[in-house]
Amino acid sequence: MSVRVRYGPSPTGEPHVGNIRTALFDWLLARRFGGQFIVRIEDTDQSRAVEGTEQLILDALTWLGLDWDEGPGIGGPYGPYRQSERLPMYVEAAHRLVDEGKAYRCNCSPERLAALRKSQQQAKQPPGYDRRCRELRLPGDEPHVVRLGMPLSGDTIVNDYLRGDVSFQNSLLDDHVLLKRDGFPTYHLASVVDDHLMEITHVIRGEEWLSSAPRHVQTYAALGWDEPAWVHIPIIRGPDKGKLSKRHGATSIRQYAEEGFLPEALLNFLALLGWSKDETTTIMSRDEISQSFDLDGLGLASAMFDIERLREMNARYIRDLEPGDFLRRGRPYLEARIGRSIDDDALDTLIPIAPDIQERVKLLPEFADYTDFFFSEGPLDYANAELMGRGYKNKPWAALESVEASLAALREIEPSQWTTPVLESTLRELATSRGEKAGAVFTPIRVATTGKRIAPPLFETLETLGQELTVERLNAAAERLARPDD
Ligand code: GLU
Repeated sequence: MSVRVRYGPSPTGEPHVGNIRTALFDWLLARRFGGQFIVRIEDTDQSRAVEGTEQLILDALTWLGLDWDEGPGIGGPYGPYRQSERLPMYVEAAHRLVDEGKAYRCNCSPERLAALRKSQQQAKQPPGYDRRCRELRLPGDEPHVVRLGMPLSGDTIVNDYLRGDVSFQNSLLDDHVLLKRDGFPTYHLASVVDDHLMEITHVIRGEEWLSSAPRHVQTYAALGWDEPAWVHIPIIRGPDKGKLSKRHGATSIRQYAEEGFLPEALLNFLALLGWSKDETTTIMSRDEISQSFDLDGLGLASAMFDIERLREMNARYIRDLEPGDFLRRGRPYLEARIGRSIDDDALDTLIPIAPDIQERVKLLPEFADYTDFFFSEGPLDYANAELMGRGYKNKPWAALESVEASLAALREIEPSQWTTPVLESTLRELATSRGEKAGAVFTPIRVATTGKRIAPPLFETLETLGQELTVERLNAAAERLARPDD
C-alpha cells in the first residue's frame, strides 16, 4: 500500500494532546508502510494565527521524535508546505469551478447573512445560506465570495474507514464558501486542493470534521478528482466522559515536557488513545508501535485520557532507562536546583545508585530531590526535630549519643571497605548492640547526610556520598544536637 499522509495544524495555539495524537497516527501509518509523513501548515485564517505557534508545533513533533519527510524547514517535491504560500492554487481551482458552473460568485453582504441567520433561528429553521446568488452569474469585478453549488436533493455518502458509508442529506447542506472575500480559501477548499495536489492517500483527522466531510466529497467530485481514504478518529474524552480539557490534566505538549514526562512515555500513551495492538499489550517502544500500527487497530470507542495512567507509564519508562541515560535526562533539573552545572564525571558517580532513584522518580524534576544533597556544598538545611525523628522525639541528648556512636563506628571502617554491605552490617550491629530499633538509629544518619527524611536507600547513599562527606555531615549534626535550642 502506498501511503502519503499529512498533519495539517493551524498555527493558532500551543499543540495539545488531541492534535498531536492525529500527527502520531499519521506518522505511524507512514512509518509502518514506508510512506511519507507530511507537515502542512494550515494558516489561511490569518485572523486566528498566533505568532510563534508554528514553531511550537514543530518543536512538539521533534520532541516526540515524529520526523517529517516533507514540510516546513525541509521542503519537498509538493511544496510550498504553508497554505498562505499556495494561494494561486486555490484561486485557480475556485475559478475553474466557477467557469464550469459548479461554483458561483456571491456578493451577499455580511449584514444580509446575519439577518438571514437571525430569521432562520427565529423560525427554528436550520441555519444556512439561502442560495440567493446561485443563479445570478455575477461578474467578478465586485467584492464577492465563491460558493460551491451543492446538490439540492439526494444524499452524499462519505465512506469512512472506521464507520463504513455515512450518509448525509443534501437538503441539509448549504452552499459553503470556497474562497473568501480577501481571496483566501476556506479550510474546505484549501484542504481538498492540497490533499489532491500533494497526493495524500489517507486523511486522518478528528471526528469533529466528519460533518464537513460531505462538503469535501462534493468538492472532490466537482473538481473531478479521486477522494483519499477518510479516517475520522474518535475524540479524546476524560474519565468523566466529558470532552478533554485542562481539568483532566491535559495540557500542551510543551507542558508535559516541562513537567518531566519522557517523550517515549507520552508517545506510547497517545498511541493507545484510540488504537491498540491487541487486548493486552500496553507498554511498547516507538519501534514496536510503528511496526504493528495499522488502521484496523483503530477503534470507534472513544479514547479515554487518564492522566494517572500516563503518570504510571512515565514511572515505568523512567525505571527502564539505562542508568547513564536516566542521569543525563535528570541533570538539568538537578543543575537548576543547585545553581551550577555538573559535568559527566561528577554525574556518573551516581551510576551505582541510579537504579534505586529510578524506582522512586515518577516525573523527571523529582530527580533533583533524590540527588541534590550529593552535590550541595556547605551545611544542609533541616530542622533538629527531623534529625531526631520519631525514635528520639524531644530527646536531643539521646539523638546526640546515637549520632556519636554511629560516627565512631563509621570512622573505623577502612576506606576500601566503604561499601553498601559493610555499611549495612556495621550500622545494624550498632543498633542491636545499643538495644535500639534500626529505624531510630538510621533516621538521624539519613537526615544528617541528605537533609531529608525521604531519600534513596541509606547504605547505597552513604557509599555514594563517600566516607569523608558522611563523617563531615554527621559531625555537623552532632554539633547541632549539642545546641538543641537552634
Ligand atoms: N487545520 C485543521 C485543524 O487544525 C486540520 C484538519 C484536518 O486534518 O483536515 O484541525
